[in-house]
Amino acid sequence: MKLKEFNRKTEAQRQELVSFLQKLDEIVPEEMPQLVAEEDAAMWAETDCLSCANCCKKMTPTFTPEDVNRIAAHLSMTAEAFRKKWLYKEKGAAGDWMNKSIPCQFLGSDNKCNIYEVRPEDCAAFPHHHKQPFDNYNDTFTQNLSYCPATYNLVQRLKKRVEKEYEW
Ligand code: SF4
Ligand code: SF4
Repeated sequence: MKLKEFNRKTEAQRQELVSFLQKLDEIVPEEMPQLVAEEDAAMWAETDCLSCANCCKKMTPTFTPEDVNRIAAHLSMTAEAFRKKWLYKEKGAAGDWMNKSIPCQFLGSDNKCNIYEVRPEDCAAFPHHHKQPFDNYNDTFTQNLSYCPATYNLVQRLKKRVEKEYEW
């Protein structure tokens, strides 16, 4: 899905998918892990992240201390110099380290990550569809519906499947 088309579609259909995820907080089909695995595999078969990179363009990953040490070493910098140059500490209890710059400074013009082999764990795990149980992460998916075509398409597929196969 082209990003322009994605933005238009999410605008129109986001609320329907948010309502589905909210309902999924209360009613979880027993076969949910299997449903997610099947629909996720089908969704990835028709999704190309390199033609998208919207997560790197519109969001910031969180950087753990291990991420900072690994990436700074890869760039021959100290962790302190790396944080000073690229990151800020989010206010609040979690106090996560986030990118100052959006799009991400490591995103190449070809939509590839310039530090792919040492990228933050958060980037490697995004969009977190494998997390278990799936419905525990509904808040994350609700937020990502606006940014990630993969999450948008997965939730849309799950909604269709659940509404067709279950009393809902
Ligand atoms: S993970 Fe989602 S937002 Fe990121 S590139 Fe892939 S489809 Fe796009
Ligand atoms: S570090 Fe790489 S994968 Fe992570 S947001 Fe930046 S460009 Fe994207």
